[in-house]
Amino acid sequence: MTMQFKNLIGGEAVSASTYSANLNPSNTGDVIGEFAAGTKADVDQAVAAAKAAFPAWSRSTPQERYEVLKKASDEVLARKDELGRILSREEGKTLPEGIGEATRAGQILAFFAGEALRLNGEAVPSIRPGVGIEVTREPVGVIGMITPWNFPIAIPAWKLAPALAYGNTVVIKPADLVPHSAWALVDILQRAGLPKGVLNLVMGRGSVVGQAIIEHRDVAAISFTGSVGTGRAIAAACVAATPMKKVQLEMGGKNPLVVLDDADLKTAVECAANGAYFSTGQRCTASSRLIVTEGIHDRFVAALTERLQGLVVDDALKAGTHIGPVVDAKQLETDENYIAIGRTEGAKLHWGGERLNRENPGFYLQPALFTECTNQMRISREEIFGPVASVIRVKDYEEALAVANDTDFGLSAGICTSSLKYSTHFRRNSEAGMVMVNLPTAGVDYHVPFGGRKGSSYGPREQGAYAREFYTTVKTAYTFAG
Ligand code: NAD
Repeated sequence: MTMQFKNLIGGEAVSASTYSANLNPSNTGDVIGEFAAGTKADVDQAVAAAKAAFPAWSRSTPQERYEVLKKASDEVLARKDELGRILSREEGKTLPEGIGEATRAGQILAFFAGEALRLNGEAVPSIRPGVGIEVTREPVGVIGMITPWNFPIAIPAWKLAPALAYGNTVVIKPADLVPHSAWALVDILQRAGLPKGVLNLVMGRGSVVGQAIIEHRDVAAISFTGSVGTGRAIAAACVAATPMKKVQLEMGGKNPLVVLDDADLKTAVECAANGAYFSTGQRCTASSRLIVTEGIHDRFVAALTERLQGLVVDDALKAGTHIGPVVDAKQLETDENYIAIGRTEGAKLHWGGERLNRENPGFYLQPALFTECTNQMRISREEIFGPVASVIRVKDYEEALAVANDTDFGLSAGICTSSLKYSTHFRRNSEAGMVMVNLPTAGVDYHVPFGGRKGSSYGPREQGAYAREFYTTVKTAYTFAG
């Protein structure tokens, strides 16, 4: 029998009138469960519950918030293998990647448990005699969260943990392709001792549930991760709303990995293979532009091709799989369309790009490597969000830097070089929020800020202590004591 998963509102599992099937992209015959398709009425109920819970939760002690988050962290870490399997089964990243992401979620919860205790303020002398000034941080209110499908447990965790640590209440809508991981996380947090209504989960479509969250008057702030198009519309709606909403957007990328002549070839190939293709290339930080100087170009392409030939594309849950399937039929079609566009534009499909058949019906695509690309081609400018990368040949470091920065995005940028001079210059002059030297563009720590520039991010950074910029609001209080 297929399991039914209800929305979690006001501490209760609330039935929906319709449910939608969650399918395993490695095996479309495998129905993971039926998940509630929420409505505007569900959002209204969830926001009302979050609003009612806010006064008490916002005044709870840091110790109470620490204990809930720490307990949730302990459970996530104890169940990381099971949660990783849930994640890989619905999203299609390999089981080690799924377990790694579940572990990350547990670490994030532990970090923010500690952050609850570290929130501080300032006492500042006034320019006026007898006046004292106190600068404090307060929770924002009811936060609406809208998350994408590619990190089904880490992204909900890195939004929920700081929101709850700083005393906010939440309504979260996970991506409709991957609701199971978020459902499991919310269930864990609720059982860890959150008072009823502090955290509410409404699953369903972006145009219905997401829209209702954004339009709700009692939602004070929206934290969104997803595509640029959706993000832009959400920011506009938050600004147009009365009262206006605080908003934070994390969006797409077209991340460059620069490989210079003096790079260690093995390191450069590993960075490219990992950054461009692991997690099926479905990472906002994926290195989809490989910008390579002339002297190493041919050796790099040959070595990367050999590395790609050794990668096993198969069922995400199978031991030995390096690359799982694409997330769904629509994304597979998008990837294939871009591969066709690349060829039409005059790039050379150097390796891969074929649809693959495996034991079970799934969305399997051989990683694709384009060479002879220019930075003006659509495959070098638009986010594909699949296992597809373009090699752009450049003359020298100066041209590489110019090409790396010539993009509408600015999330992560990498360079492989043994030169201190070039790596230092690149760190200072890259127009990206995160810079990696001799490391893949993807793969970040959880205790430091995460985010980008230009079309990749809008609003305060996520993660680390910087998360408090979004999840708290500053109050400046003046007192004249006579
Ligand atoms: P998406 O924009 O299609 O959807 C994101 C979320 O928004 C989903 O939950 C969706 O249901 C919801 N949504 C869609 N339409 C909506 C609407 N009208 N109103 C409210 N909500 C709506 O993105 P996706 O396909 O789920 O995710 C892939 C994108 O996410 C890529 O562009 C990727 O780069 C980006 N991403 C960015 C980061 C980052 O931190 N920068 C991290 C992961 C993914």
